[in-house]
Amino acid sequence: MRKPAVLILICLTGLYAFQSAPATKFTIGGDLQAALDRIRPNSLRGDLSFIASDLLEGRKTPSRGLDIAAEYIAAQFRAAGLEPVGDDGYFATAHMVVSQPNLDGFELKLSRGDSVLNAGARDVGINASAALDFKDTPIFKLDLSDQALVEGFQPGDVAGKVLLVEINRNTMANARIAIPKVREGKPALAITIDRMGASTGGPPEGVLLDSKEAEAKDPEAKNPEDRVPRITLGGAAAASFFDSLPPGSSDALASMHLAAPHEKPVSPRNVIGVLRGSDAALKDTYVLVTAHYDHLGMLPEGRGDRVYNGANDDGSGTVSVIELARALADLRQRPRRSIVFLTFFGEEEGLLGSKYYARHPVLPLDKTVGQLNLEQVGRTDSSEGPQVSNATVTGFDYSTLTSFLQTAGDLTGVKVYKHPRNSDAFFSQSDNLYLAEAGVPAHTLALTFQFPDYHEVGDEWQKIDYENMAKVDRMIAVALVMLANSEEAPRWNEENPRAAKYLKAWKDRHAK
Ligand SMILES: [Zn+2]
Repeated sequence: MRKPAVLILICLTGLYAFQSAPATKFTIGGDLQAALDRIRPNSLRGDLSFIASDLLEGRKTPSRGLDIAAEYIAAQFRAAGLEPVGDDGYFATAHMVVSQPNLDGFELKLSRGDSVLNAGARDVGINASAALDFKDTPIFKLDLSDQALVEGFQPGDVAGKVLLVEINRNTMANARIAIPKVREGKPALAITIDRMGASTGGPPEGVLLDSKEAEAKDPEAKNPEDRVPRITLGGAAAASFFDSLPPGSSDALASMHLAAPHEKPVSPRNVIGVLRGSDAALKDTYVLVTAHYDHLGMLPEGRGDRVYNGANDDGSGTVSVIELARALADLRQRPRRSIVFLTFFGEEEGLLGSKYYARHPVLPLDKTVGQLNLEQVGRTDSSEGPQVSNATVTGFDYSTLTSFLQTAGDLTGVKVYKHPRNSDAFFSQSDNLYLAEAGVPAHTLALTFQFPDYHEVGDEWQKIDYENMAKVDRMIAVALVMLANSEEAPRWNEENPRAAKYLKAWKDRHAK
């Protein structure tokens, strides 16, 4: 495992030496060394023991625990003397709604001749953004286990009808073929049969939405017009009704009443502070260092520990952002560009805080030269073995930002490496994604992808390697100062096809 990774690292180091040498002459002077010395394990431990305490109840978005965490982060930014640039001091308020399915008066009837299935609200899971009302609409059954049927299936087959499918592990590949055709066909409703009833029957889950943009609730649908209302129908009766139907159109009919969802406004907050740069020309350009301060909340019920403390995910990134702010704010010689310290809500709900920031940026994105997002930087006990003095970067060779980290790693004794599988696979899995899609060279740095207690209640602050986290944070501090002092901004790698769409976004944004 380790050997190929080392070989790849060597190849890329060579590549970057050829491509660009952003800071080969960089040395750590006395002023920066003093700042690095201010990054202390005990300081990180102190912050994280609060952020990840049970009192904050797992920092679910939105929740009182999340708000308390935000207030704490803002207080530390204030103490560091950062410039408040949010709409409310250090807070950048998001205007969102929680949309909750409304099951009052719910009705769903499927029938074929004498065979009638009346589903109750407890048999379904709802994914629909508006009220639905129809009567005796024809049903089209698509048998996803039949390859020939899936390939012959046409969008027109389901237009205006109710689509009935069963998706399971064996039919997933065919489902991917069918989904674009289903969207194009615009059925009145898509019903997914869940034989085991595993995803139905609980209280309806609310969905957080950007209230300004009324975005698609179907995360796979890029355009609002592509949205297809969906419900999941669980249980043995639903399965046997499904089994009894012939594939395709038949004399089966569906009727439904679903009330409009309840919508409640909520205002989760990103927390943002700026260390203003010193160069007259560059101080209105920005280097972002970010982390998400939310986590999963609490288990609904039961005995024992119910709190998802999220110490490593991503309390570790959050307290690193705080500690970096404290250390760099004490520099006597300010870096030339401005450094932005930013923590996001809602990562666990689907990268919501960073997505909101990319859509409603506090500072102009065309002046934002790069984003370094920190995730899971505390624990060294990776599922792949100990990760001491190691850090990996997602989208490792997508942009030249990585080379700043490698140089900083050489100077501070931290190996910055490309993970052979996960570096690319995880590029779209964290809060760098929406900034990257907006064109900003943006990456996530992590020590581990998987670790024991990942997304479990045992992710607690006592299990963090604070000495190592301080060492990695010093490396990050050096990289941030290098980025902020560099005349040349990071740029997407023209040679890597995986970076092509982000490069295009950059070009679109900077086209004048
Ligand atoms: Zn995370």
